[in-house]
Amino acid sequence: MEQPNDTDGGESWQMFANCLGVDPDLFFPERGASTKEAKGVCQGCVVREDCLEYALANGEKFGIWGGLSERERRRIRRQRALARAAQQTRTA
Ligand code: SF4
Repeated sequence: MEQPNDTDGGESWQMFANCLGVDPDLFFPERGASTKEAKGVCQGCVVREDCLEYALANGEKFGIWGGLSERERRRIRRQRALARAAQQTRTA
């Protein structure tokens, strides 16, 4: 997706985004609205992983990124935090 708040000169992976030229509103559906169409665009996107990691790294709280919703990204952040905590416990 084209990042609306990208001020660092752009991310090269964005040039290969499936959503280039697609209405950005599709990726920011109203609460409770379907995310199916946006996720469908993401499904065949070759930079899906880059997009998801960008959203995770930047704490994007809204919209569909990397084919995942806010809730799905929250789950990944939580899982990674737990994995990090477990790793630290093992090495401590
Ligand atoms: S994964 Fe989806 S939102 Fe991200 S760049 Fe690709 S099409 Fe756009």
